[in-house]
Amino acid sequence: MRRKIVAGNWKMNGSKDLVEKLVGYIRAEVESLDNGVEVVIIPPAIYVGDVVVQAAGALAVGVQNVSRLQSGAYTGEISSGMVADFGCKYALVGHSERRQLFGESDADVAEKVARLLADDLNAIVCVGETLDEREAGNAEAVVARQVEDGLARVAGDQWGRVVVAYEPVWAIGTGKTATAEDAQSMHASIRKVLAGIGAPSEDVSVLYGGSVKADNAAALFAEPDIDGGLIGGASLVAEDFVSICRAVP
Ligand code: PEP
Repeated sequence: MRRKIVAGNWKMNGSKDLVEKLVGYIRAEVESLDNGVEVVIIPPAIYVGDVVVQAAGALAVGVQNVSRLQSGAYTGEISSGMVADFGCKYALVGHSERRQLFGESDADVAEKVARLLADDLNAIVCVGETLDEREAGNAEAVVARQVEDGLARVAGDQWGRVVVAYEPVWAIGTGKTATAEDAQSMHASIRKVLAGIGAPSEDVSVLYGGSVKADNAAALFAEPDIDGGLIGGASLVAEDFVSICRAVP
């Protein structure tokens, strides 16, 4: 059975005060949900310890990036072992902001995924096409390449800890959301690509991300191949994020 997940990516936003107020509120609200959704908070790494304490086991916690290296003289890097040591369960890999602003390649994504899985963590691997790629008719091919190359080193029972997040780059932070039909079509295509590389494709959760809000979440999550969402801006607004968690059927 696929996991239903709503993950909030805070990006480089937040403060100790926000951690206390926002996470405390979400934890209290989410405890009463009976839709089986797993709620994940993904703050900047420096707040992870505080979020783990506030989440008190009722919410999962993740990081936005991880090193592809294990340990040593790599100033500024954070290893997957450290992420696990702090009680995190998830890490994002290959978010479009990492790919576009920090030059992260599919090969880097594959190395980071391998590192996370070796440390028993769950990887949320982000894929998605730019507007130019979509307008050129290449959206499915671009996403297929990102899935195939980014997940090239996953094997056997490790698939149970892989989550794919489809995030069309043109929809991230822009207020433009893919229609539920277009998102469903890409999710179905991702599932075919997963099957082609030997994954148990019906068991891998595929999340949608890109301007998901309280008023469009239900339509997206009602689609058969959309297993929840990766939420940016709306994850910083307590009531909106909780409404999105409630919108999971
Ligand atoms: C994201 O950062 O992954 C994201 C989907 O952002 P937003 O919801 O703000 O578009």
